[in-house]
Amino acid sequence: MTTSDFLIIGGGIAGLSAAARLGRHGKVVVLEAEEALGYHSSGRSVSFSHYGIGNAVVRGLTAWSRSFYEAQPEGFCPTPVARAMPSLYFATEASLGALIALRTDMARFTDAAEWIEDEAKIAALCPALRTGGPDGAVAAILDPTGLKLDADALLQSFARAVRADGGEVLTGRRIASAARRGEDWEVKTEQGEAWSAPVLIDAGGAWGDGFASLAGLRPIGLQPKRRTIIAIDPPPGTDAAAWPFVHSAAGDFYMLPEAGQLLASPVDEVDDDPGDAQPEDYDVALAAHRVELYTDIRVARIAHRWAGLRSFVADRTPTAGFDPEAPGFFWLVGQGGYGLQTAPAMAAIVEALATGGAWPSGLAELGVVPDRIRPERLRGGSAHSLISQAIF
Ligand SMILES: Cc1cc2nc3c(=O)[nH]c(=O)nc-3n(C[C@H](O)[C@H](O)[C@H](O)COP(=O)(O)OP(=O)(O)OC[C@H]3O[C@@H](n4cnc5c(N)ncnc54)[C@H](O)[C@@H]3O)c2cc1C
Repeated sequence: MTTSDFLIIGGGIAGLSAAARLGRHGKVVVLEAEEALGYHSSGRSVSFSHYGIGNAVVRGLTAWSRSFYEAQPEGFCPTPVARAMPSLYFATEASLGALIALRTDMARFTDAAEWIEDEAKIAALCPALRTGGPDGAVAAILDPTGLKLDADALLQSFARAVRADGGEVLTGRRIASAARRGEDWEVKTEQGEAWSAPVLIDAGGAWGDGFASLAGLRPIGLQPKRRTIIAIDPPPGTDAAAWPFVHSAAGDFYMLPEAGQLLASPVDEVDDDPGDAQPEDYDVALAAHRVELYTDIRVARIAHRWAGLRSFVADRTPTAGFDPEAPGFFWLVGQGGYGLQTAPAMAAIVEALATGGAWPSGLAELGVVPDRIRPERLRGGSAHSLISQAIF
């Protein structure tokens, strides 16, 4: 039996970023089921940080996290973990109302966003994007503050930070049982390897509720949803490297340049079970169709395709905090489609809540207060209050 101060289940961005913060408070052990860190959601993300997604709390978490990405701590990673990539949200005639609402939602967090109605200007930013007509862009918001993140560099750097503080990050350790013994939680693999700690952190991604029920807890209502990505070639002779991250205001398409190719998604959200998500033919075809609908690119070949799970609780806000019904059991789940862009803020929140420290400075001013993050809100809250939290 190996003992530590904090046991973290899950070697994705949530578990590793929190582990790096907790290393200064005691010994941390991270246990990951797969042989590689970030094998599931964290390694399948398109790794973008922007204000065009999520509710007001998510935007607050994103805003707080930016300072980490814009000026990464000295020695954290030998390469930059983020680089500037503007985001361009476009509307057709039919989705103009959604673009206007997005402008209002974003306004509190970025004053750099520019409203564009000049179709020639939209076309100059992303020449492949159709303009005018029923499916063409008639207006857009250009936000120059978007950031392309390097997910692998982040995962490896957080793991390195944990080890540098004397902690352990162990892969190939699928935890099959968890039980409270005295003041500690004890977890075991099927092979019988065991660890114990007074604080057990469930950062199991799509498996978050499943892991909690292994430990005898009630679920908090986590729903994994599948999202599909295709990689295609840019039009022949085109250098798309300087194109922005392009997102439809209707919420049914995005595209961004990555390593000489274009990644595109139909922004699908299909309920799924925890597992090794695979792309469905229908969603791949839909991705190609949306590329051809919104751009003048002909999808002659799909170079690569994949799917991953984005897991949400009812109000679609990431959740962190001790379970009020199980001493020492700490939830860190529900990162949805924004686990990378919110990770520095969520890790600071975990540090505060798990060690009894102060709420991270500046977060409340951004609208992120403990009641919106802690798991209590998900049990016993009326459907009405959850729906209004999701909207506002
Ligand atoms: C296609 C796609 C695009 C995305 N784009 C973005 C984006 O642009 N920006 C952004 O911020 N976010 C994006 N996301 C969302 C982001 O990827 C997730 O929010 C984030 O990765 C969730 O991190 P996690 O650590 O909670 O989950 P995971 O990375 O899934 O990690 C959880 C880990 O727990 C492990 N585990 C589970 N049960 C056990 C057990 N019993 N024992 C041991 N280990 C266990 C799993 O093996 C897994 O590795 C995207 C997601 C997808 C799928």
